[in-house]
Amino acid sequence: MKLKIITQERVVFDHDVDEVYTRGIDGEFGILKGHIPIMSALDIGLTKAVIGNETKVFTTMGGILQFKDEECIILTTAAESGEEIDELRAKEALERAQKRLKEAQARIDAKRAEAAIARAQARLKAKLTGIE
Ligand code: ATP
Repeated sequence: MKLKIITQERVVFDHDVDEVYTRGIDGEFGILKGHIPIMSALDIGLTKAVIGNETKVFTTMGGILQFKDEECIILTTAAESGEEIDELRAKEALERAQKRLKEAQARIDAKRAEAAIARAQARLKAKLTGIE
């Protein structure tokens, strides 16, 4: 099966894979070859692609996953492979967002800060998880 991870800026990944694991808004799920067609809303988190005995880790920042005809397409606003992630940038973004959350007056500001925290945490987790 094929996995394509696409943002508005670029194709982050386009490769044959054996298995895909990701985080939907209702929890984590996996797709193996022969899965029935699905369309699913994604949460901020990690997407893992298993290729033989290797696992590649990506961040996917919400969006949509479609699987049909042995092709898994993820459309997301931002995605990075583990090796692309700048760990220091993610740590700084996390600290900034945590500060903004503490100081947030309006609900919308708190929501934005929480989303930024989730993105930074996903990036740091992808760095920790690395490539097996
Ligand atoms: P920052 O405050 O550091 O920009 P952010 O969560 O607001 O973080 P996003 O809006 O999610 O950033 O992403 C903007 C662009 O920057 C995207 O293309 C994304 O892939 C890239 N990006 C953001 N943070 C990192 C990082 N730590 N390492 C590599 N690329 C990153």
